Amino acid sequence: MTARIIDGKAFAEQVREKVAAHVARLKADHGITPGLAVVLVGEDPASQVYVRNKGKQTLEAGMQSFEHKLPAETSEADLLALVERLNADPAVHGILVQLPLPDHMNADAVINAISPAKDVDGFHISNVGLLGTGQKSMVPCTPLGCLMMLRDQLGSLSGLDAVVIGRSNIVGKPMAQLLLGESCTVTIAHSRTNNLAEVVRRADIVVAAVGRPQMVPGDWIKPGATVIDVGINRIDAPEKGEGKTRLVGDCDYDSCAEVAGAITPVPGGVGPMTIACLLANTVTACCRANGLAEPEGLTA
Ligand code: NAP
Repeated sequence: MTARIIDGKAFAEQVREKVAAHVARLKADHGITPGLAVVLVGEDPASQVYVRNKGKQTLEAGMQSFEHKLPAETSEADLLALVERLNADPAVHGILVQLPLPDHMNADAVINAISPAKDVDGFHISNVGLLGTGQKSMVPCTPLGCLMMLRDQLGSLSGLDAVVIGRSNIVGKPMAQLLLGESCTVTIAHSRTNNLAEVVRRADIVVAAVGRPQMVPGDWIKPGATVIDVGINRIDAPEKGEGKTRLVGDCDYDSCAEVAGAITPVPGGVGPMTIACLLANTVTACCRANGLAEPEGLTA
């Protein structure tokens, strides 16, 4: 079998188009423009790229983008004061504090200071609790993107065996909650899981969020399974020239693609969906804040 390739880039484009169409309707019918505030503390180069891309795509979707760049030595009290101002600002519907924060700050305290209704990353403890109890919440962007792609591929997920490899708060755990919400039978595997190969072999759906390059080989995959590879790992690529590198996922793409029914590539799979889902969450937060119907197909 050769797997269908799940084109995350094209799918993310569709999500962004839906977001832009909804933003246009909000403006035309209600005079409301959704706004996303992104806060960056310090000069971490990867974070600077993410924040720039988020701002650009927010504007392209027709929304307002508010960027707050603070020096690395900013005190936690000053950051919390900014979060309070953004919580109170009616033009801001979504707030994202880019992680990681500098060591002198308590990231949990900062995230939990964001108004849960504006927590478009879905990391606030209230949103974690709402998701865990099956209530309406803000859903973390990466797992939301994975869920959208799975629904698109498979339709109903009810009764399917799903294995999530990785139990982080930002990917593994919320992914498992979402799959449970879809009535999958869910196993969360991690570094202490016994006989991981056997666990993965029974899965109709495999979501790999480990951070170990090409860890999952094709012979762990049940024939026809759907494989969602969240991992983004940079490895040496001497075949491209001296000192060159390339991105790979947590799954060994070539061998998995021979067995799976469908698979996300890296790059071009889950990655592009994350920012698209951030935009989707901002529109959702804006609609909820204004008592309006939420856009179809952009939430969990
Ligand atoms: P993380 O916080 O480091 O968590 C990794 C998880 O993998 C942990 O639960 C760990 O288990 C588990 N693990 C480690 N080694 C393992 C092994 N040998 N067998 C089974 N499980 C193992 O990572 P994360 O933040 O969830 O990110 C995971 C990957 O996704 C990374 O490559 C990251 O770059 C990528 N990512 C991509 C996006 C995107 O937009 N596409 C977004 C977020 C993350 P323990 O808990 O037992 O230590």
